[in-house]
Amino acid sequence: MNIILMGLPGAGKGTQGKKLSQKFKMHHFSSGKIIRRMAHQDNSLGTVVKRYINKGELVPNEIITRIMKNRIIKSKTENKIFDGFPRNKKQIHDLDRILSIIKEKINLVIYLKVEKEELITRLTGRRICRLDNSVYHIKYDPPQKKGKCDKCGANLYQREDDKKEVAQKKIMVNRKKLEKVKEYYQNKGILEIVDGNKESEKVEQEIENIIKSNE
Ligand code: ADP
Ligand code: AMP
Repeated sequence: MNIILMGLPGAGKGTQGKKLSQKFKMHHFSSGKIIRRMAHQDNSLGTVVKRYINKGELVPNEIITRIMKNRIIKSKTENKIFDGFPRNKKQIHDLDRILSIIKEKINLVIYLKVEKEELITRLTGRRICRLDNSVYHIKYDPPQKKGKCDKCGANLYQREDDKKEVAQKKIMVNRKKLEKVKEYYQNKGILEIVDGNKESEKVEQEIENIIKSNE
């Protein structure tokens, strides 16, 4: 089964994607994570990509599609979960085309719907471990020791694009495009909307029920 987890920045895609990938043995493709790794590279592409990310803008389709294609085609797992890709109409068709090469398709799209104010609270409070990239939240999921990762003890940091102004811009940049993506999958009859405002465990349970009823 191939699933897309969609939602605005901060909706909980990464959080839920991680849990689902462990539970259902799915390969979790997070375009944000992949592109951030690229931004850390000390070359011209890394510099270009970093500029888009830190401004809260979308990285050009050609770049995203190329790296996603490489990874999807190389992937050995049958079950895939996409988080953050596709983000616009062009990417929808790119993903369909990539999956058709390996004779697969998208079976289910889960839309995590979260209020704007809550998205801002989640983004501005998100903290990441410098070493293992674990994700925390200062209010909803705080580490045991302030500013330190529970798993490895390394320092936590705030993503540049989670600062309030950029967080607001990310929501603005993505809103209309995501609506079009949602309409596309709604018309195909494979979209399920989940109330993502609820606490993480409840959201997880709801998604699991949807997946099981689609298996
Ligand atoms: P996305 O991948 O959609 O941008 P994340 O999964 O990284 O979002 O979640 C954003 C922040 O909100 C993180 O700090 C995470 O710990 C927190 N979070 C995720 N889901 C919930 C939830 N249901 N309730 C409260 N906080 C959440
Ligand atoms: P995310 O981790 O999903 O919040 O993504 C962080 C940033 O990476 C975004 O704000 C974009 O700059 C970039 N990005 C991630 N996925 C995509 C995508 N599918 N298309 C374009 N840019 C993306």
